[in-house]
Order: sequence, then C-alpha cells, then structure tokens
Amino acid sequence: MTEPRSMPGWSVETLHEDHAQALREATLLYDSETDIQRLRVFRNPTFGRILTLDGVVQVTEADEFIYHEMLTHTPIIAHGAAKRVLIIGGGDGGMAREALKHRSVEHVTMVEIDAGVVEFSKTYLPGISNGAFDDPRLNLVIDDGAEFVKTCTDSFDVIIVDSTDPIGPGEVLFTDTFYGRAKNLLTGNGILVTQNGVPFMQGQELTNTMRAFKALFADWTCYLATIPTYAGGPMAFGYGALSDAPRATPLAELEARWAKAGIETRYYTPAVGQAAFALPGYVSALMP
Ligand code: SAM
Repeated sequence: MTEPRSMPGWSVETLHEDHAQALREATLLYDSETDIQRLRVFRNPTFGRILTLDGVVQVTEADEFIYHEMLTHTPIIAHGAAKRVLIIGGGDGGMAREALKHRSVEHVTMVEIDAGVVEFSKTYLPGISNGAFDDPRLNLVIDDGAEFVKTCTDSFDVIIVDSTDPIGPGEVLFTDTFYGRAKNLLTGNGILVTQNGVPFMQGQELTNTMRAFKALFADWTCYLATIPTYAGGPMAFGYGALSDAPRATPLAELEARWAKAGIETRYYTPAVGQAAFALPGYVSALMP
C-alpha cells in the first residue's frame, strides 16, 4: 500500500499513528528550517494559506478564527476584568490579535520560542496577526515558555498556552512543572487555558493535563470546539482557574460583558462559550 507520507502536490500530516491528513498544495510559498523546526506555508484552494511546523498543521486562514476566538474570548469574558494576558507560543500572532481586541486588556506578553515563526508569519500570513505585532500593548519575548515561567516575576489574569503538540519544542509545555509555574503567575480569579489536542485522537494528552489541573486549580475542566484542519473531531482546550467564580458567571452577565467589549466574531458568543463546556461521554471519560 502506498505510504501516504509522500503524495506529490499534497502536504500529508501524519501526526497520529494510524491516520493521515492530506491537504492540496496548490502553491508552495515557503519551505525552510529554522534552528528549531521546519516551517512551510502553502496555499490550499479551500483553506487559504496554511502554516505547518514539522509537517503538522498549525494555522489556516480559513478556520483559524474558531481556535483563536475560543481560546481568548472564553477565558477573558469569563474572567470579567482581565487586564494582563500571557500567551505562550502563538507565533503566528492570531492569539494576540484576538486578545488585543479587548480594550480592557492593557498588556499582553507573548513568549514564542522561534523568532522565525513570528518573522515569517508577518510576511506570509499577515492576515493572521493583522497588526497585533505593532500594538504598543504587546510585549514579544523570544524564549522557551518553560524557561520564561521559571523566572518571570510578573502576574497575569489570563494565561493562554497556544503551543504546538507535545512533540519537539512543545513537549515541555505539557508538563506538571510548567503548569505549576504558570499557575503561580496567575492572580485573583486567574485562568489558564491550553491547546490540548483532539481528544478522539490524543486522549491521553488531555487526561495528563487534567490530572495536573485537578491538583493545581480550584476549578478545572476542558471545553471543546471543532476546527476542521485539526483532524479527528472536536479539539479540547484545558481550563484551570483559581476560583469557581468565572465559570459560574451567569450567561446574562457574560452577554453584558460581551456587549460592552463590542467585538465582532464569527464563532465565539457567550452562549457558545458556555455550551462548549458541556462534554460528551467519550471526553468526560478522559477526565481523572
Ligand atoms: N494552533 C496551533 C496548534 O493548535 O497546534 C498552534 C499554533 S502556534 C504557531 C504554535 C507555536 O508554539 C509555534 O510558533 C511554536 O514555535 C511555539 N512553541 C512550541 N514550543 C514552544 C515553547 N516551548 N515555548 C514557546 N513557544 C513554543
């Protein structure tokens, strides 16, 4: 049987053992190694420009809004008074773009390990960051997120881990040590959210994170959203909070906060964000 890894004219993602995802490469725009990972950008007629790192889809122009809206607005609106946000990873700038849409957010620190991803995303995927890198509220730090949280003395209201999967440089961002240090940077009703893979394909990854969150946070769970190019069904976002209050916020209050924020979105609404925490049995079964 033909190994799907090499199909001329297609980018074949083999993130999972028994599964491959092929995306037509109508035009290859960039293909190079940084000193950390292999960067490729190509254009696909359906998904627009697609960024892969070490062969794994990171972001596509067509469906990135779902992921970035759900990982920013859900915790920021639930928190209700988030002024300082920390993003770990996020080199394409999409997470920073969405977080900075909140006028109430006064400061975003973004810690990205690979300067090449930032520079190159500005050139080849400018629509993803859409000016976020020029926002005076953004403090871009080129560093390993696991190193950053070791020595950081700042505090944050919301921390968003927008990392690659737990392979290569992203692996350290899925450890109890990292989660514990990140938690120590939260204040008040602080919330930590994480990119936590597609539970149907990466269930153990979610269980591991939730086990760590159960030991660390007063309130812990995950929430779901389906991003078409993260293959295998809904993606899980880890959620850990210093108190129960944010997730217990009534929908009417979430909607009032959202109306005040005055942000246009194509996926997130307070009702969608709240409903995303309703977990189907196969995901609940992964919780420790
Ligand atoms: N949406 C994607 C996903 O769900 O897999 C993530 C996109 S974003 C491009 C992932 C970023 O994490 C990349 O820019 C990568 O360089 C960065 N990254 C990986 N490991 C990191 C680490 N240890 N510290 C900081 N950034 C890291």
